[in-house]
Amino acid sequence: MTRSPAAAAATDLPDPFAALMQITSRPSVVFTEGRGSWLRDEDGKDYLDFIQGWAVNCLGHCPDAIVAAMMTQAGRLINCSPSYYNAPMIRLAELISRHSGLDQTFFTNSGAEANEGAIKLARKWGETQRAGAYEIITMDHGFHGRTLATMSASGKPQWERLFEPKVPGFPKAGLNDLDSVERLIGPNTVAVMLEPIQGEAGVFPAANEFLRDLRELTRREGLLLILDEIQTGIGRTGTFFGFEHAGIAPDIMTLGKGLGGGIPLAAMVAHRDVCCFAPGDQGGTFNGNAFSTAVGCAVMEEIAKPGFLATVVQTGLYLSASLEGLSRRHHGGGVRGKGLLLALDLAREIGPDVAAKAFQRGLLINAPRADTLRFMPALTVTRDEIDHMIGILDQVLADMAA
Ligand code: PLP
Repeated sequence: MTRSPAAAAATDLPDPFAALMQITSRPSVVFTEGRGSWLRDEDGKDYLDFIQGWAVNCLGHCPDAIVAAMMTQAGRLINCSPSYYNAPMIRLAELISRHSGLDQTFFTNSGAEANEGAIKLARKWGETQRAGAYEIITMDHGFHGRTLATMSASGKPQWERLFEPKVPGFPKAGLNDLDSVERLIGPNTVAVMLEPIQGEAGVFPAANEFLRDLRELTRREGLLLILDEIQTGIGRTGTFFGFEHAGIAPDIMTLGKGLGGGIPLAAMVAHRDVCCFAPGDQGGTFNGNAFSTAVGCAVMEEIAKPGFLATVVQTGLYLSASLEGLSRRHHGGGVRGKGLLLALDLAREIGPDVAAKAFQRGLLINAPRADTLRFMPALTVTRDEIDHMIGILDQVLADMAA
């Protein structure tokens, strides 16, 4: 790989990374291949992947079902403009409706864009149904994306002073604190929006009872309930969608990450009573293109296969029990989460160090907080792979204690 002299002069990064804008610190490794739970770098070293593109590659790297769907659709039709229907777009919307019980879908390319769509739909609904109400109550420590509105909706403390001024209209309540939500409801309130499990914050679940109470409260007050299922949806927690654990249904739900299994694809899905966009209110060049929605269909069909979700539940229990053992052996603070979205409380601020040392030993693992490791493997991860991962973390934690 060569670098352009201009790019090299602009930074002091080593060849060949200088031409890339630095938005995160990356190890000097270049991945060239992936299969299932494994990645290989350009030197032929293998890595076990428990990040999977941040809970994106739900079927692992390069799964046969996705590769076949891409090959077939690429030879048939890639894109024909969102001004026209295409066959996979229709089929995927139907599949999402069938499994979620919601009625209509708007496709996007990223989770943030899906959440922007949800915010706009709620504001449009507020304009027509609630005398111009526009405020959406969101949660402290919530994460909804990196556009200006979704950063404003997020409750990430590190973002408080970033890219000011924020988009107004997102008062913050506390997760699992119904009173704090109730106190914020006023004449301008149109909706409450949250993640069933706060993933980026470090895997903090909304309690089932809190979600049920919120559903009841929003119904009573005539407000919309918006669930951001971008990380929890598409089988991640052992059910198709995270809200199923609480036995409730949202008015609007957003999906992303796993929906495309690695291809940029996200969606905003809503109950028919809320679908109030008029032509021209919402759109986007790549929305619902045939190629990505064909991949979405392949993903949904795999997850819907008999036994798939039951296996995710069993594998999740195995991972959880294995992490509990690790926690006991190394004086951790236990395990949080559901299905295959789990966190290990390390009980001390060594997360980034553990992740860096695990990487050297061939394991990709994420530390969303200084005291936490997050586990979001492929939904197809095997028990042997879990054992292998635990073995690496055992070694890393023992070395660090020595
Ligand atoms: N919402 C949640 C719950 C997320 O976890 C994320 C990404 O991590 C997003 C929204 C943003 O999605 P994207 O990065 O695809 O814009």
